[in-house]
Parts: sequence; structure tokens; C-alpha cells
Amino acid sequence: MNPVFADLPTSVFETMSRLARETGAINLGQGFPDDPGPADIRARGAQALAEGFNQYPPMMGLPVLREAVAAHYAHHQGLDLDPTTEVMVTSGATEALAGALLALIEPGDEVVLFAPLYDAYLPLVRRAGGVPRIVTLRPPGFGLDEAALAAAFGPRTKVVLLNNPLNPSATMVSRADLELLAGFCRRFDVTAVCDEVWEHVVFDGRAHIPLIGLPGMRERTVKIGSAGKIFSLTGWKVGFVMAAPPLMRVLAKAHQYLTFTTPPNLQEAVAYGLGKEDAYFEGMRRDFARSRDRLAAGLRGLGLSVLPSAATYFLNVDVAPLGVRDDAAFCETLVRRHGVAAIPVSAFYAEDPVRHLVRLCFAKSDATLDTALDRLGDLA
Ligand code: PMP
Ligand code: GLN
Repeated sequence: MNPVFADLPTSVFETMSRLARETGAINLGQGFPDDPGPADIRARGAQALAEGFNQYPPMMGLPVLREAVAAHYAHHQGLDLDPTTEVMVTSGATEALAGALLALIEPGDEVVLFAPLYDAYLPLVRRAGGVPRIVTLRPPGFGLDEAALAAAFGPRTKVVLLNNPLNPSATMVSRADLELLAGFCRRFDVTAVCDEVWEHVVFDGRAHIPLIGLPGMRERTVKIGSAGKIFSLTGWKVGFVMAAPPLMRVLAKAHQYLTFTTPPNLQEAVAYGLGKEDAYFEGMRRDFARSRDRLAAGLRGLGLSVLPSAATYFLNVDVAPLGVRDDAAFCETLVRRHGVAAIPVSAFYAEDPVRHLVRLCFAKSDATLDTALDRLGDLA
């Protein structure tokens, strides 16, 4: 058995969701909305399934979806992607990440990562033989720091893996920080793998900036998106990868032996969804922002300290004023005694963790958020 995987604990998302089910707690832990997702997109998927989109589709994805991806990112982010050579469909962003890391890393290559880290990153980098060089980002801003980047990048750096917008901090990387990072990528000839699954879930008029659009990054960036987040259909696991042809050729080899294809009926439905008018995306952001504000106001009303949330389905509560020194133990108490499941932010750190933040998912109905707030009434 390979020790990288053999020694791993079960993911904090699975553990917390299981505990929520067992205890009957409200699950504000794992990030998924409690509404069923857009009815027309689901109907399109059901129709495609009934019509017979059920055999292997082309390995790179249905042409209709690859074209929709290229058109979608041209419209929303000003990118110019060739659907036939620069777009590939994967089974979720998770497959895209695994494939990119397997395809790009040779044993001994250094990979720059940022903590807080999405839980899949470190095991995948290690299993691919990469040597992680972790740059730790800290609250409240979680900004990049030139000296830390200079310490992490070097002649052996092959890949930098960036999550933007960043889960769990709910922050977005500023243009200045992206330019700083792009400079390091160019100087050290490094490929950037950008996990941008949260790119549409951004609030208060903010606009996502894709690293691939920065000068000198077009040829050295792998951009990853997910319909799971764009349409709140997290179980569908339809992702997409965008990269220049020399990178894409290698990524396609990894995909060929990981999943090979992704369910065609879902691809058909996602292709339809990506073409939705701007009003749909604006409405989605407005609805999530309203839920964010409802939960944040309720928590503040209870005397709790809430960090700003610029993006994602999440907000963070600073539990240091409650005297909490161990966020994981606190979350265990929260779910068992108060009936609310949350995610301890320390789970996203590898070394020197932040232990005073608790992540809550606000992509829930008003009634669910209000019940959770009732249950948290005696916390502060
Ligand atoms: N990356 C990040 C940062 C995520 O938050 C998630 C899931 N929420 C994923 C990747 C996984 O995406 P998918 O479900 O499309 O595999
Ligand atoms: N990305 C989701 C979150 O952050 C969970 C995904 C998973 O369960 N692996 O909550």
C-alpha cells in the first residue's frame, strides 16, 4: 500500500456530514446548497438521459459542451479559447486536479501550494511524487506576500497550485497579488494550476480575475472550473479544464486513464446551462449574498465575530473571543451539543494551523439558517 493514501484520515467534509446525519444536526459544514438547483438544467439532463445520451461520449467531452465552455469564458472573462484544442471535460474539478498534478509533476519536482489548502491538494501532490512548498496565508486578509513567495519558489519549482476564490477563507486574490504570482511563474518557468471552481460565486459587484488572462500566463496556466459550483449541482461532477495545446495534450493522457469520459446527459445539460443569460448568474449571486447577509447578521446579533465573505458559499466565525483554542474540538461540541455542523479551518492547514476560525456554509434556506441561529443562541 502506498503510505501517502494509507495514512490519511477520512476527509473532514465526509466526517462532518456523517456526524450531522447521525446526530440530526443542521449541516452547515460540507459545502452544498439545500435547494435542488435550476429546474430547466435538471430537466435538460433528464431529457438527454431519456433521449439516449447514455453511451461513451468523446473522450475530450461532447463538442456542444466544449464549445459552450469556450463561449462562456469568452463572454464572462474575456478569454479566447479554442474548443477543439484547449478545452476538456472532466468528472468534476477533482478529476481535473488529480489529472493535472499526475501529468505535470515528476518525482522530486517542487510544487508551491497555499494554505489554507483544499483537502485534496496535498495528498495528490505527494502521491505524484511532488515535494510541497507551502506558503501559509493568514487571516483576516489571506493575502500573498512577496518574501514568502521568494522563499518558496526556486529552480526545482515545476507547478504552483492556486485556489481562487479561496475556500475556506471566502477571499479573492487581488489583481496585485495575481501579478506578483505571475511574475514568479514567468521568472522560474512554472506552470500554474488554477482551481477556479468558485469563480461565479462572488459578491458585492466583485469580478473574478483568471490568472490565465495575465500577461505571459496564457501558455503556462491550467484553468479548472466546475459546473457543480456554477449551477449548485455539486453531485453532478462535471468539470472543465482549459489550457494551451501543449499542456492540454498531456492533461488529456491523464484523463484518458482516470475516468476517460463524463456522463453525456449531464454534459448536454451543462452545455445548455453555460449559455444562460447574465441575469441568471446575477440572480444566483444576489440570492447567495442575501443568505450570507442573513447568517452573518444573525451571528453578529448573537455577539459572534464574523469575517467578511467576498466569495464562495462560506463565511468564517472567529471563535477566539469565546476562548476557543482548538477549532476541531469546538466543532465537535458544536455538532453534538448545539446541533450545528461546521468545518474547523485548521483542517485546511498543513503546518502551524489557524485554530480560531470555524467555516459555515450559508447556501441554505432561510428557515434552515434561522434554526441554526436559534441553536447557536447560547454560544457567545
Ligand atoms: N476545489 C475546491 C476549492 C472546492 O471547494 C471543491 C468542492 N467544493 C472542489 C475543488 C471540487 O469540485 P468538484 O466537485 O467539481 O470535483
Ligand atoms: N468543496 C466542498 C467544501 O468545501 C466539499 C467537497 C467534498 O466534500 N469533498 O465543503
